Amino acid sequence: MNATTNAFQMAQRQFDHVADQLNLDQQVREYLRWPMREFSFRIPVRMDSDDIKIFNGFRIQHNDAIGPCKGGIRFHPSETIDTVRALATWMTWKCAVANIPLGGGKGGVIVDPATLTNTEKEGLCRGYIQKIWREIGPRRDIPAPDVGTTPQMMGWMMDEYSKLSGEYTPGVITGKPVGGGGSLGRTEATGFGVIFAIREAMKKMKINPSKCSASIQGFGNVAQYAAIGFTTFLKGKVIAVSYWDRDDRMSYTISLSKGIDPIFLQSITNQYGAIDKEKAKSAGYEIEEGTEWITKDVDVLIPAAIEGQINAETVGMISDKVRIIAEGANGPTTLEADDQLKKRGVFVIPDFLCNAGGVTVSYFESVQNDMNYYWLREEVLQRLDEKMTIAFQSVYEMYEKEKVFMRDAAYMVAINRVVKAMQLRGWI
Ligand code: NAD
Repeated sequence: MNATTNAFQMAQRQFDHVADQLNLDQQVREYLRWPMREFSFRIPVRMDSDDIKIFNGFRIQHNDAIGPCKGGIRFHPSETIDTVRALATWMTWKCAVANIPLGGGKGGVIVDPATLTNTEKEGLCRGYIQKIWREIGPRRDIPAPDVGTTPQMMGWMMDEYSKLSGEYTPGVITGKPVGGGGSLGRTEATGFGVIFAIREAMKKMKINPSKCSASIQGFGNVAQYAAIGFTTFLKGKVIAVSYWDRDDRMSYTISLSKGIDPIFLQSITNQYGAIDKEKAKSAGYEIEEGTEWITKDVDVLIPAAIEGQINAETVGMISDKVRIIAEGANGPTTLEADDQLKKRGVFVIPDFLCNAGGVTVSYFESVQNDMNYYWLREEVLQRLDEKMTIAFQSVYEMYEKEKVFMRDAAYMVAINRVVKAMQLRGWI
């Protein structure tokens, strides 16, 4: 059994745990433990050398009771059908908790995109759509970018689908470039969504955000906009961010006790979220070990880099001052760490609620595509705020009513909504 098999087993275990608490019917469980539909296919691509190379691709549709499936396509060398199954399952819960009328899906190709030329990438993207186009669409399943795929690739895929279906269909795929059917506000969506969720948590906990400080892991897309939102919307102070340095093959924490300037740091950060530490140092920032971000005496921790970072080894390094952990990243906290956080009474805003801003604006993108009418950035962000606030409220109500951990409360809200939709449609 490898690590990727574990991802799907983990998704099933999390589901089983809450299904027990909800006393869910056995047959309903059997249905929801597995994807409803799975596609596995082989994609021939003509390489620049003129040879044909065969790639393995997947598209998994976990559940579409609430609406068409939604989820990214990953290009990754260690992609497996089990990773895609797990991610598709999590998308069902994420869309349900965000209360957007979409189900869960995910796709993948076993490939390292860095080994392909631009024409080979385009061939693979078009080949992927040629294999699956009859099974996707604005009313069936709407893919998006994910690890290893880009807005440009989504543009090629949308074009191929439009050619095959015989009509311009921008709503088949989201995450397209702005000007090519993309939505304004998508870049900021996940990070700002994290901040809207933190703001709501602080209201409930009667904490004044302008007196609060935060420390963030990562400085990529999610972390940058979380830092900007924390300082501008909440008027709080971010005292540390961190990043992975590819050249040094290690991570660093970049800190400033009086509060970082996220716009300045953004200006010295590359497209991979790596900060120019020499420039930061000259501007008076302290350069520390990568793990230092988690030890800071702050009110809020925002893991926004990679999975498994708050674990049995690191959970003890968290300061007693920390009251909120807002999971910007997917799966940043292990089950062992969750147990410790529960005991310590730290309020955790779980990933599939906290980072749902991205999928919410992806949904807005497909809505705008369907209408062929595009909103202003302010309008997108206003609607995002409303959606995140309502999503937070419903999970918080469940948390208070059932007296369970916020992660379990989010699962309960999501599973209840999917089960109700299945009942209303007469499936169960
Ligand atoms: P990104 O690639 O833009 O940024 C990742 C950041 O993490 C970079 O700054 C990188 O240097 C840093 N990093 C990597 N390893 C690190 C380490 N060991 N220590 C410290 N920093 C490290 O990615 P992103 O889009 O910001 O995504 C971050 C997380 O949020 C991922 O878990 C992703 O799945 C999740 N997420 C992203 C979105 C989105 O819309 N971008 C939506 C939902 C969830």
